[in-house]
Amino acid sequence: MFVDIAKIKIKAGNGGNGAVSFRREKYVAAGGPDGGDGGKGGSVIFKVNDNLATLADFRYKRKYTAQNGQDGSGGRKSGKKGEDLIIYVPRGTIIRDVESGAIMADMSGDEPFVAAKGGKGGWGNPHFATPTRQVPRFAKDGTPGEEWEVSLELKLLADVGLLGFPNVGKSTLISVVSEAKPVIANYHFTTITPVLGVVSMGEGNSFVMADIPGLIEGAGDGVGLGHEFLRHVERCRLLVHIIDASGSEGRDPVDDFNIINKELEKFNPELAEREQIVVANKTDLASDEQLASLREYFESRGYEFHTMCAPISEGTDEVIRAVWNKLQTLPPLKRYEAEVIPVEMYEKAADKGFTITVRDNVYFVEAPWLLKILQRCDLDDYESLQYFQRVLISSGIIDALHERGIQEGDTVSIYDLEFDFVN
Ligand code: GDP
Ligand code: MG
Repeated sequence: MFVDIAKIKIKAGNGGNGAVSFRREKYVAAGGPDGGDGGKGGSVIFKVNDNLATLADFRYKRKYTAQNGQDGSGGRKSGKKGEDLIIYVPRGTIIRDVESGAIMADMSGDEPFVAAKGGKGGWGNPHFATPTRQVPRFAKDGTPGEEWEVSLELKLLADVGLLGFPNVGKSTLISVVSEAKPVIANYHFTTITPVLGVVSMGEGNSFVMADIPGLIEGAGDGVGLGHEFLRHVERCRLLVHIIDASGSEGRDPVDDFNIINKELEKFNPELAEREQIVVANKTDLASDEQLASLREYFESRGYEFHTMCAPISEGTDEVIRAVWNKLQTLPPLKRYEAEVIPVEMYEKAADKGFTITVRDNVYFVEAPWLLKILQRCDLDDYESLQYFQRVLISSGIIDALHERGIQEGDTVSIYDLEFDFVN
């Protein structure tokens, strides 16, 4: 079964906790602190696998968890790092954060995408030793791994998408101009998985053509027009709109053409603007008058118009050449940019509860919503840092720290963030 959309939960491994431990040597009553750090949690990483053509694997398995880091132990022994979890997806998969709807990555290239970062290991107690605190009886817990609910959506990567009602000859065209071997049959609903064909133009030149599943299936019956499949032409640089010149199934080819364009417009207005070439197929069944009137109709509306009889490859070379020439004038395949996830939503959504634990002048602040903001904010960025500071004030955390008696120079520890308190 062809599955091109899925929703899954991913969870990176938690960082291991730092250890509280003291060196024990013969004849030494109390040695220095020697608790090891916790290991880093494993991350959840997406990678493209070109052997995958669908998202079917994600239909039943919905939760993906990377390994936790191990806790540190005595003798400055660090915990083992958790293993990363690699999730393979077909090329062209768009990954979105479900909560905000923002695009996190477009898996079109070969770059792996770290979607959920593993938590950092906590520091062992030696880290907290200072001249005035020589026996630190605390260590730091690891930070939780990132957790996301993501949607996966496959948007195929093809230069050219074929449009047209069932039975107009789309599969036949792709089978004669490429090595692709789609099912060709004289009934509707034949194409149920998209078929990509590489069309070779010689001299190492080629382009990719997509025959799209179920497009406009049942349109004539008012069953619905297979909108869900239109996402596969969204990236196409050029659309080749095939019509049955002979109207052999009792429909009018011009009506067909207009119905499909209306559907495109409904689905995505940008798609309706995409460059189209019109190809009238089944010339063997059409009269010269029919062909002439179609040519006049489309050319007068500014469309490039070609005719062919696909099964015997008549006119198909011209079609391919025209497609190739047109592609030279068009922008490259659409890649989706990652979008900014508005961290403000975590602040608004959360009840802003938090806990403060004080140990030896280190103030540990914890709150799940704050963790999310921290994980999604790049604090090296000045504006993000300022935003974070505003959140600390508006949520009442700063006031609460004052109430707990924090002094200038004391340490504030919020998960993996640590800073000296300044009034
Ligand atoms: P698709 O549904 O658009 O992919 O159409 P197909 O390529 O599967 O073709 C549907 C039917 O029309 C098949 O039986 C084909 O053999 C037939 N067909 C395709 N092109 C032509 C043509 O140019 N002339 C004739 N007479 N039949 C054609
Ligand atoms: Mg077909």
